[in-house]
Amino acid sequence: MNAITDQADVFSRFASFTAANDLIESGLYPYFLPLEGHDGTRARLDGRELIMCGSNNYLGLTDDPRVRAAAGQALDTYGSSCTGSRFLNGNIDLHQELEKELARFLGKPAALVMSTGYQTNLGVIAGLLTPRDHVVIDKGAHASVVDGCRLSGAKLRWFPHNDAGALAGVLAGLPDDAPRLVVVDGVYSMEGDLCDLPAVVDVCRRYGARLLVDDAHGLGVLAGGRGTAAHFGLTDEVDLITVTFSKSLASLGGAVAGSEEAIHYLRHHARSLIFSASMTPANTGAALAALRVLRDEPELTDKLAANAGHLRRGLAAVGIGTGVSATPIIPVATHGTMGTLHAWRRLIDSGVYVNPVLPPAAEPRLRVSVTARHTTAQLDRVVEAFAAVPELRGSRAYAGSGTTQ
Ligand code: PMP
Repeated sequence: MNAITDQADVFSRFASFTAANDLIESGLYPYFLPLEGHDGTRARLDGRELIMCGSNNYLGLTDDPRVRAAAGQALDTYGSSCTGSRFLNGNIDLHQELEKELARFLGKPAALVMSTGYQTNLGVIAGLLTPRDHVVIDKGAHASVVDGCRLSGAKLRWFPHNDAGALAGVLAGLPDDAPRLVVVDGVYSMEGDLCDLPAVVDVCRRYGARLLVDDAHGLGVLAGGRGTAAHFGLTDEVDLITVTFSKSLASLGGAVAGSEEAIHYLRHHARSLIFSASMTPANTGAALAALRVLRDEPELTDKLAANAGHLRRGLAAVGIGTGVSATPIIPVATHGTMGTLHAWRRLIDSGVYVNPVLPPAAEPRLRVSVTARHTTAQLDRVVEAFAAVPELRGSRAYAGSGTTQ
């Protein structure tokens, strides 16, 4: 037997991982902050109140009495957990009610709910594709899309962010008989820009590719909340739409919508669905109630767009560019890792919560996000706080080059 060295111990890497400790010591560690309370637009941290501009709670429904009551009612009826996979004992009628109403809302024949948005992309992509297939994705696609593709073993190619011409080039280079899937986000989570869906649909048609749109950030935001495909009038041209309940629908979970045939297949092939416990009753009740609020009050999305416009204009007025954002996701360009962290710290100290984004997730930036429930006074206060950050002086508009996973 060979002598086993210290380096052969997979745990040996723990001692050399020091980056996080250095940041903790200097007060610049931005992750796992223990928020003590949260009502949608305000959060408490270390006993101080912050304006929350870092959530995905776009419609502010986590604090809606109807959503809270529905979560409580589901908890009372079904208990705290389904304690199993939907495939076996963990399926409740509420999951299926949510599927039916979501499919109708998105304009698709059927839907399938899973326990998170991440698991949905993982299960759908890896359940559908095999190593024989080709998958082509936008450079800005979410990590869960990337991980689903890798897990599937399919041949993975990337195209430059929102460049349908480049996508056409990649598809044109595939063998004629190669099965192919294209995956894009409807709204990109780091830039806040929209997919050029008409061009992507056109290319997919020309080259015989099926199209999956991850609309995690389009649901509840565009087209009265119906999402990116509806915004462009292209619902029938998109084969599969994935969404998450952890953003506009104020819950936890995810879903895929498509044809009856596709959903039937995925029900029996998505391993993240089959081998993981189902959405909890409370999550399911909350998502269903939030979906009904959105369906009945689409004007909430107008308020959200107005708030996003107000903040973008406010930042522009103090010389801070917000790139290609056309949604409540507003990226503010920063300079390098330390510049980003110092700017983030100053904002926290002045009472504004935003998320720092660092490579390899994406180019450095502060990711600011708005909800329909922010008041104009809160948004003006946020602009004031940004204007006072020296690291952001002369911040250029972020050009939007996509993520770098
Ligand atoms: N897709 C996109 C584009 C996302 O931004 C996210 C979450 N950030 C997900 C999927 C995963 O959703 P969830 O948080 O529900 O797992």
